[in-house]
Amino acid sequence: MTGSAGIAASLSIEHRDAGSRARAGRLRLAHGEVRTPAFVPLATKGAVKTLEPSEVAALGYDMVLGNAFHLLLEPGHELVARHGGLHDFMRWPGPIITDSGGFQVFSMGHGTVADEVKGRAPRGEGEREGAIRSINEDGVRFRSYTDGGERFMSPETSMEVQAALGSDIALAFDECTPFHVPREYTERSTERTHRWLVRCLDWHREHGPSGQLLYGIVQGGVYEDLRRASAREVAASGVDGIAIGGSLGQDKRQMHEVVGWATEELQGPADAMPRHLLGIGEVDDLIRGVELGIDTFDCAMPTRIARHGMVLVPDPEGRWRTDLAKSRARDDDAPMMEGCPCPACAVGYSRAYLHHLLRARELTALRLITLHNLAFIARLMADLRAAIAAGTLAETAAALRAGAAPGVAA
Ligand SMILES: [Zn+2]
Repeated sequence: MTGSAGIAASLSIEHRDAGSRARAGRLRLAHGEVRTPAFVPLATKGAVKTLEPSEVAALGYDMVLGNAFHLLLEPGHELVARHGGLHDFMRWPGPIITDSGGFQVFSMGHGTVADEVKGRAPRGEGEREGAIRSINEDGVRFRSYTDGGERFMSPETSMEVQAALGSDIALAFDECTPFHVPREYTERSTERTHRWLVRCLDWHREHGPSGQLLYGIVQGGVYEDLRRASAREVAASGVDGIAIGGSLGQDKRQMHEVVGWATEELQGPADAMPRHLLGIGEVDDLIRGVELGIDTFDCAMPTRIARHGMVLVPDPEGRWRTDLAKSRARDDDAPMMEGCPCPACAVGYSRAYLHHLLRARELTALRLITLHNLAFIARLMADLRAAIAAGTLAETAAALRAGAAPGVAA
């Protein structure tokens, strides 16, 4: 069952910050609880790249995100369903949220939408290898990047795929509007997203798996009136939760402003609904997002940069990262981060060793850096949750922004 009955039951807000919209609590889902605010690592194709589910859980994560678009193409949602659904198939017993595929499908058509929308690189892999054939009110026809065959995705298809995967939270199929389009296009596109949401809700009411929540997606680009109207409309539509997506602007300041409009609009009657921010995961953006009242976040960043040798460190000037592929790491005996309790730093692997592994293209390097990066973000979120509970979010956020080490210096 979904709909308004599930709303109050799914999120319990246990603490609120007096100086911001931040809240901390628990999101109760079919496969367990998520401590919020939380970061959600990507398991786009059914794996958190280089890790096993037990390792992801041990780092402190309660939920992962799978992707309907990629799993539809490969291995196919029917196959996953035959193997017991995504939880059983990938052996992750905890909560799973699935992305609807809207972002990936539209990334193919808009070309650089992923970079524009999220400021940097695409959320998943393979977006640009396919090609859109047509977009109309029914849905999107596109060429698959796996076999070149023509495929079709609509609100109903996306819901069907996510039902077969059996995720705890399904996301509505939306049109992900790029940044460099006129306001009129953004407005029309946002209206279509709302019409598609109604179709998602209709399908889900009839066929959605028991216990699966459905989140609607707030669009509206960088236009305040469109964003606010979208937030109100999605909140009133009968969804179980709200995701904020689409173009969030050309820089962090604009992005924070756009997210703030949406969460401001979601106060009052919609306050009890869980809120997810799509594709955002930089350290400073997570801190700001929490202050703006976001409950869950997903982003490729920590795992993707790990595969390029980039390590998260408490260094605001260096955008909280350092590049171990650079020659300055060649002879560096220090660990990735001094005092880091993560499974890789605890063993004592040096930057010099990791630099060597990266140069030698040893897969172990990607795995060790992924462990470190996800542990770093997990501790950041744990610090923010604890600070909200203790009534010290302002101090903790200021310290983290100034370069305090999450979970170490606190
Ligand atoms: Zn570490």
